[in-house]
Parts: sequence; structure tokens; C-alpha cells
Amino acid sequence: MTTSAELIEISESRSAHNYHPLPVVIREAHGAWVTDVEGKRYLDCLSGYSSLNFGHSHPKIVEAARDQLERLTLTSRAFYHDQFAHFCAGLGDLTGKDMILPMNTGAEAVETAIKVARKWGYEVKGVEPDQANIIVMENNFHGRTTTIISFSTDAEAHDGFGPYTPGFRIVPYGSADAIRQAVDANTVAVLVEPIQGEAGVLVPPDGYLTEVRELCSAGGILMIADEIQSGLGRTGQTFACDVEGVVPDIYVLGKALGGGVVPVSAIAADRDVLGIIHPGQHGSTFGGNPLACAVGIAVIELLNTGEFQARATKLGETLHTRLRELIGKGVTEVRGRGLWAGVDIEPSLATGREVSKALLRRGVLVKDTHGSTIRLAPPIVVSEDDLIWAIDQLTDALYAL
Ligand code: PLP
Repeated sequence: MTTSAELIEISESRSAHNYHPLPVVIREAHGAWVTDVEGKRYLDCLSGYSSLNFGHSHPKIVEAARDQLERLTLTSRAFYHDQFAHFCAGLGDLTGKDMILPMNTGAEAVETAIKVARKWGYEVKGVEPDQANIIVMENNFHGRTTTIISFSTDAEAHDGFGPYTPGFRIVPYGSADAIRQAVDANTVAVLVEPIQGEAGVLVPPDGYLTEVRELCSAGGILMIADEIQSGLGRTGQTFACDVEGVVPDIYVLGKALGGGVVPVSAIAADRDVLGIIHPGQHGSTFGGNPLACAVGIAVIELLNTGEFQARATKLGETLHTRLRELIGKGVTEVRGRGLWAGVDIEPSLATGREVSKALLRRGVLVKDTHGSTIRLAPPIVVSEDDLIWAIDQLTDALYAL
């Protein structure tokens, strides 16, 4: 058998170093637990950055994938296939929107929303050609393509990859006034994460999303909610915008939409917005493929039961109550909603990576983000006992620092 150490060495020498993984090599996983190549088990408290909201190998998702795998996996969009209509109608019903444009990765869906907003701006709002601007937030994370990193404020993500795509205005996150000041006649959209995940699970002030919605409606501006990480049950609601009853013009979805099995992303919008896209103007060879749609349908069916949203709310109360007890004991701040938390470690004690490694030794998988923050987002299927056990491991790890 090849050991973890050997596999890590080969991985490091034969792959680009665009990630800095923790030293664990996973071989299999079920529910909330993963097993490494030596047979050691770990509780997954990252969930593939919220792609595994329904857990690893959820039986309904695996069954849908397996059935589809044996029947039909790819047609391209040159033809219709029998899963496409159900996926689009199901996701349209879940989002309350008329139309769906399916892609694969999150970044592609964000790019899609940007293209749609620009074209809508020229054709519907009457903005002069090439003059459209989109307002985006400081500390945003929307993916890694050249256009998206053009408006990233994270030097690591941004620097050295120019020339950059113009047409974006960056304002502080959480301030509707800052958006108001940045808006002009050429503003076609505001692109916002309802909770900023990669920035450290930053929750905006109460009422922010409502104000963004109102100012967009008043100014004839599209509100684009990037719910790729926050959506699909994670926060205890189907969408993080639901907490304020806000409905954006465009939902951007990904990650958990693929059930942790295949990359599936999409944007959802009404006909007056998405109807502006015509054949030849946008697409993807794999976007909306039969396997992706079959998995997506299974995910939508799980969300339609409401069980996962309710469970994320209930377990989230336990998570946040327990984590708050650690403030002053190695933790300086806890943020988040539902089964999703950003935990700031006292910087003089340890970095987020050091705490992540200490947790790894104790059988808990988490990942640091930005220096001294760790993020906890276990699969929503995690048991309450396991969740409490994971927080006990964090308590022990902090105590041992
Ligand atoms: N948008 C948000 C809010 C994300 O959290 C991410 C990924 O972390 C993305 C977009 C990009 O998704 P992908 O990595 O699938 O391109």
C-alpha cells in the first residue's frame, strides 16, 4: 500500500502548488466522516467548502447519479435530454424564478451573471455600449477567472494576473450607503455574497440585504446574490437572502447543487432578465449535462423536504452556543449563521493553520482562512453528538496551545 506520506510527496512534486492542503490523504467518506489511506477517521467540518451540505455519498444522490451514469451522461446542448426540463423547472420552482442557465463551476456561474447583467444593461436599461459598471464588495470571493480576480481585493488572488477586466466598482461590504454613493446611470448590477464565506464568514449588519434590494429596485439595477457557498440549506434557510425575505434578481448557485458528486452551477432569474440571452451568446459543453441534472434534481428534492434547512437551524444553535463559550478562552470572535461559523483565534496564541493542524491530529477536518480564522461547516447530516465532540476537540486544542 502507498502511504499518506508517499502520496503527499508525489502530489507536491507533480502538481502545481496552487493549494496548501493539510497533511491528510482521504480515501473514502460516508455522511460526515472521512477515512484516510491508513484507516484513520476524521469528522469533516469543512464539507468541501459547503459542497457537501447533504454529506458524503448521500444515498439518494448516489442512487440518482448511479442510475444516470448507466443510462446517459452527455449529449451536449446541441440536443435536449430527458433530465434537463426537470432540472430547470425544479430549480426554477426552488428559486421562484422563471428561467435557469446551467453551468459547471461557481466561477462560471458568476461569469454568466456578469455577462447577463451587462447585456441586460445595454438592451433593457439603455446603457451606452461598453459603459456598464457593476458594484462589488471589498473582501469578496467569487472565483478564480481573470475577470473575477480583476475585482478581488485579496492581493494573493489578484496581483500578478493583469491586465484586468474593467467595469467594476469596489465598495466596503455591509454598507448600503457606500453602494448608493458608487451608483451612477451606468450601474447595471450589484454583486453581493449574502454572507462572505472566504472572507471569514462575515455576516453583514441586519437590514443590509433589504437596503441593497431597495436601492437596486429604485435605481433599475439588478441585485445579484452569489449564494454559491451560503445557499442550499447551509444557513438554515434555502438561501441566505431568505433571512431578510429578500429576493435578488439573479441567484448564483453552485457547490452543493452538485451534491458533492459532480460540479453543477447555475444562475436563476426571471424572463425579463435571462430572456436576453440568445443562441450562440453563452454556453458550456458540459453545462446542464444529464448526469449533472440528475444529481441536481436529487439535491432539489432533498431541499424541497425542508429537513436540511430545519436541521441546519437546530444544529446551528448548538454550534454557535458552544463556540461562543470559547470567547476569551483562545477565541476572540465567532460569526455565522446556521451550521456555518467563522472562528477568530487569538492571534498571539496560534494561526488558523496551526489550530487546523491541531484539530487534524484530534480527528477533525477544518480549514483556516485569512490568518487567524478557522471556518466550521460540517455536513448538515452530522449528528449532534459528533458536532459537540468536534467543538470539544477545538476546546482541547485551544487549551493545549
Ligand atoms: N462564489 C463564492 C461565494 C464561493 O465561495 C466560491 C468558491 O469558494 C465561488 C464563487 C467559486 O466557485 P468555484 O470554486 O466552483 O469556481
